[in-house]
Amino acid sequence: MLPTTIAGSLPKPAWLAEPQRLWAPWRLSGADLERGKRDAALVVLKEQERAGIDIVSDGEQFRQHFVHGFVEGIEGVDFSAKKRIGIRDNRYEADCPTVVGPVARPGPVHTADVRFTRAHTDRKLKFTIPGPMTIVDTLADEYYRDRPRLAMEFARLINEEVRELEALGVDVIQLDEPAFNVYLDEVEEWGIEALHRAFEGVRCKTAVHICYGYGIKENIDWKKTLGGEWRQYERIFPLLANSRVDQISVECAGSRVPIQLLGLLEGKDIMVGVIDVANTEIETPAAVAETIRQAMDHVPRERIIPCTNCGMVPLSRAVSLGKLQALAAAAALVRAEIGAV
Ligand code: ZN
Repeated sequence: MLPTTIAGSLPKPAWLAEPQRLWAPWRLSGADLERGKRDAALVVLKEQERAGIDIVSDGEQFRQHFVHGFVEGIEGVDFSAKKRIGIRDNRYEADCPTVVGPVARPGPVHTADVRFTRAHTDRKLKFTIPGPMTIVDTLADEYYRDRPRLAMEFARLINEEVRELEALGVDVIQLDEPAFNVYLDEVEEWGIEALHRAFEGVRCKTAVHICYGYGIKENIDWKKTLGGEWRQYERIFPLLANSRVDQISVECAGSRVPIQLLGLLEGKDIMVGVIDVANTEIETPAAVAETIRQAMDHVPRERIIPCTNCGMVPLSRAVSLGKLQALAAAAALVRAEIGAV
């Protein structure tokens, strides 16, 4: 009951990449970099286990940024031709690689990383891949010039990858779709269809993560424009409730999402974001437990997976670890209250 997990990323050790920075450059290269990523994955696995997290992940130690890890393995995308474009409906600008030809997956992208991670933990393992809409929104496309078409192409490539990762023993595969909270009409028009294509034939647990982004200034400023109640989920939750995705990861802690919207996800397991990643203050277990209890008013308790709101890569390691510990302690508190194990 109430198994804990994290949305995705964790801070990287300072010897691997510059701390507290998105898209932080690597501090190692060549074989040292490959070894460094593996060592970092061991550290974050152990830290999650020691903190008491039930469904662990590699903390995205193998990738520079959550989108570009997968895309780096794809042909047709030129990383040497980065273009500065507005992303997430021009909320902020980023240097994005350019699609210059037909996209193809010449071989496995994450297989070696996942095989390594799987071999070093006995806990349930989750793996994250960017979702088709978010990938498309983080690329400069000079070839297809058609977002739904490019998204379906990526969905096909993700599906090839996901089938291989499932065979390695991954328990949960999550597609990250922060873009779903931005392009609400497109979610309905082609976003869900792209998720279904990406998960076609997959038998392990499937998940989608939809948040309001990392705790960076551009996102905090954007959130100020969203009014007293954030109701984006109200549009997309009914669509997700009707989808074939098993689990939905959402942001609830410290946000203005009306908690009763969780009731719109009937029939789904919900990774309820109970840890605020936009705030460096470490929550008390009591405060986190209160958010879990609020979710229990709207979601059957057996469908709740306490989780972080989003990735924690921009935070310091100390803050991130404190938040992991608060998450696990809070779930234990509520379990004890309801007499669950
Ligand atoms: Zn997120």
